[in-house]
Amino acid sequence: MFSAAPAPSDALLPDTGDPGFGVYVHWPFCAAKCPYCDFNSHVRHQPVDQPRFTAAFLKEMEVMRRIGGPKTVTSIFLGGGTPSLMDPATVAAILDGIARYWHVPAGIEITMEANPSSVEAERFRGYRHAGVNRVSLGVQALNDADLRFLGRLHNVEDALKAIRLARDIFPRMNFDLIYARPNQTVEAWEAELNQAVSYAVDHLSLYQLTIEEGTPFYGLHKAGKLIVPDGDQSADLYEATQEITARHGMPAYEVSNHARPGAESRHNLTYWRYGDYAGIGPGAHGRLTRGRDKIATATERRPETWLEQVEAQGHGMVDQEMLGLDEQADELLLMGLRLREGVDLARWHDLSGRDLDPIREERLLEHGFVERLGNSRLRCTPSGMLILDAVVADLAC
Ligand code: SF4
Repeated sequence: MFSAAPAPSDALLPDTGDPGFGVYVHWPFCAAKCPYCDFNSHVRHQPVDQPRFTAAFLKEMEVMRRIGGPKTVTSIFLGGGTPSLMDPATVAAILDGIARYWHVPAGIEITMEANPSSVEAERFRGYRHAGVNRVSLGVQALNDADLRFLGRLHNVEDALKAIRLARDIFPRMNFDLIYARPNQTVEAWEAELNQAVSYAVDHLSLYQLTIEEGTPFYGLHKAGKLIVPDGDQSADLYEATQEITARHGMPAYEVSNHARPGAESRHNLTYWRYGDYAGIGPGAHGRLTRGRDKIATATERRPETWLEQVEAQGHGMVDQEMLGLDEQADELLLMGLRLREGVDLARWHDLSGRDLDPIREERLLEHGFVERLGNSRLRCTPSGMLILDAVVADLAC
């Protein structure tokens, strides 16, 4: 469970009012497609032309820099897909490119996602040498049967090897686990999570398995061949997750993310605190502020189409939308209520031009779904987190 109403400042990364500026680069390729995954990830049986993609990433950065103007980068995230399929030289070239278009102070958080099946010591050292200082491993489960069920290419032994290597090479490390798997009992999950916590350095991402439309799991689920835990079982698993991570000093600071105080993902905090980010690469999204305006960008999802588009016109954008103040206020709420520190109501007022509807807020307070942190912040309680979408829908503009 969350501890009782801590002040927002008990995180070592306090909300200073400046949510920062992140650069996200999407590597859209994977060695195999996992049956639950609806990310923009593609399998290619021919080698990917990495220099060609790198040149396109840099071209697109130039355009994003023009849209958002000069900025100081507070974090970089190389996501995917499986970015650990990139050569270290590709990663180095991408990071150099970012530093060409924006100011990149020394020591900022630079995260790269990696899969245990594509981890080798030499490559990890190469990424570290290129400037990556935080790795996020897609471990997903700590038993072989469930890893096979999830369609993963690694086993537990590979995962543990990757964790050890990451701990040796990178100052910071996260790994992901998926829970609420079919037939998973609370006891089994507690045992697995206790084991995971003992391997963790400073951060864990713990996601409930969700059945996404268009995935193989969706078809199986619809046909009644894949049964996931129901609402009550999921709530029990969620509660056990909160309790164990808090007991081990890694409480949730966001719905699915847990960290030792101060080790929160700087990059993801920028999203949830509704800061700016440039989204580079196929299917990447961005938010770039210019004056009072916020521009939402989205790029072409299909890697080869994106590549051709960038080569022809300098960017792969398929959508560039100016967000009105009401839309910005809604997004701020949607993102901020995911966080244990909650949402800054003065900022919401500044965007929406009004206070929260007192009747709706009172109703949510009475039901124990939200709580105030002083006068300035509102956050979801643990039970509110379980129905987050409904809470946001109730309060939004
Ligand atoms: S490795 Fe990750 S991005 Fe790739 S298919 Fe599996 S879940 Fe999706």
